[in-house]
Amino acid sequence: MTSPRERINSIKQSLPEGVRLVAVSKYHPIEMIQDAYDGGQRIFGESHVQEMVQKREALPKDIEWHFIGHLQTNKVKYIAPFVSLIHAVDSEHLLKEIDKQAKKCGRIIPVLMQVHVAKEETKFGFLPDELLAFMQSGAWQQYENVSIEGLMCMATNCDDEEQIAREFEQAKELFDMVNGKWLNGKWKVRSWGMSDDYPIAIRHGSNMVRIGSLIFGERIYK
Ligand SMILES: *Cc1c(COP(=O)(O)O)cnc(C)c1O
Repeated sequence: MTSPRERINSIKQSLPEGVRLVAVSKYHPIEMIQDAYDGGQRIFGESHVQEMVQKREALPKDIEWHFIGHLQTNKVKYIAPFVSLIHAVDSEHLLKEIDKQAKKCGRIIPVLMQVHVAKEETKFGFLPDELLAFMQSGAWQQYENVSIEGLMCMATNCDDEEQIAREFEQAKELFDMVNGKWLNGKWKVRSWGMSDDYPIAIRHGSNMVRIGSLIFGERIYK
């Protein structure tokens, strides 16, 4: 049996320079996160607000907490004081609420826009055309307490590597288009790739992978 920190080290050795690792610790206990932390990992991803708040209270304060799941607007206030990056902004309504809560905390909160490229209907996110329309509208510029830093996506959960590659490639093309057209190249973060598909994601433009089960083992849902 290897420990989380050993698995993180071996994953990190396989990542090209410039690709950051978010260790997705949802549903896993404090002790495992502490082990990864002691091995040097500082970025952890969670997808439930209450769980993230509790873990944050129990663990070292220099951890960067990334919120990676679907975020309900009425819960933004609980993580606004400390969250380092919100990966999955899937509506203007949510962006507006993050801005409002960030202002209350005197912060600028970094976020990513979630783009829906997968075939599954259940996945959240802007469709590519919706994202382009939103950027074109300029509405995002009014939110001064959020800093939009890039895109996040999830590929279809399937075994078809070509399909997965096409979806990541679509996200990359969208990223480049938006970045060139409206951001002057200011966007930096391409968050895609999980335990099962991160090598494909890296070949198709990812520079931030979100890996859970490969590090911490299977999640036990309670
Ligand atoms: C759970 C989760 C992950 C990690 O999934 P693994 O397959 O365990 O690596 C990555 N991204 C998001 C958005 C998640 O919810």
